[in-house]
Amino acid sequence: MRTPVPEYLQEVLNDCVGLGEGAVADYIPELAVADPDVFGIALSTVDGRTYSVGDDEREFSIQSVSKPFAYAAALTDRGLERVAQTVGIEPSGEAFDELSLETDSHRPKNPMINAGAIATHQLLGGEGASPRDRTDRILEFCSRLAGRQLTIDRSVAASELATADRNLALAHLLRNYGVIGGDAHEVVSGYIDQCSILVTVRDLGVMGATLANAGAHPVTGEQIVSPPVARQTLSAMAAAGMYNGAGTWFSEVGIPAKSGVSGGLLGSLPGQVGIGVFSPRLDAQGNSVRAVEVCRRLSADMGLHLMEAE
Ligand code: GLU
Repeated sequence: MRTPVPEYLQEVLNDCVGLGEGAVADYIPELAVADPDVFGIALSTVDGRTYSVGDDEREFSIQSVSKPFAYAAALTDRGLERVAQTVGIEPSGEAFDELSLETDSHRPKNPMINAGAIATHQLLGGEGASPRDRTDRILEFCSRLAGRQLTIDRSVAASELATADRNLALAHLLRNYGVIGGDAHEVVSGYIDQCSILVTVRDLGVMGATLANAGAHPVTGEQIVSPPVARQTLSAMAAAGMYNGAGTWFSEVGIPAKSGVSGGLLGSLPGQVGIGVFSPRLDAQGNSVRAVEVCRRLSADMGLHLMEAE
């Protein structure tokens, strides 16, 4: 590809900006009032360069894009074996907020659905961590990956907590089977704080590039997670990161990814790049319409599909 990266990204943004389909998520009141036209794209390389276009400084709540990072932090704090006792690694084939667990073990099927993410959140910070320690841990972890101090959007968190019956039901189900202990309300409240961390597409690009770089931060060189943790996290994203569109996504785009209800999308291609895209209108699967199209374009134009031989 000969066009310089910033010009190329601007071209992709211009081509996708006209996609007006989809709708903003409205089951969390604060998300229903989001500006649907905001659009930003960032691409970060594993050697530490970040390129971005559009609304690249606009902060938005990370929502489900926090799930792979919470999984990586829990794997770091507890080890692969302990985390595997609590949460599986199989695609669920069900809605992200389904009230269902594996039949015999009662584990949630994977860390990318809400049941799995709530269980994963409880593992943060190690044995005996308080609810406050868990929230501090995920905020500190995401900030380290982003390379700047991130904050929590308290109005998004309050809005989600006030309408969190389904996640509370999931937490009670998990507690009933002994998958989590402690107070169900406190775990959900911490998980919601995690989802309300504010990021930009540039943050997501660098965070994705760190996972793509076997856990070493592309700018500072700090080894934030071990290579096996980065590999496990990317595997979970490949298996289940794109809601019920995960199979179609992987066959068409071929990049481990995670999307969220606010319209964010994180991509992470091992050894190559991290991608962050934000555009709030969602398709029927819950993935950002423009963000999916952007990634399709990047994958095709730059030959990024993991299953394609060089
Ligand atoms: N905080 C949201 C929830 O738990 C995240 C969902 C999502 O982004 O998929 O419902």
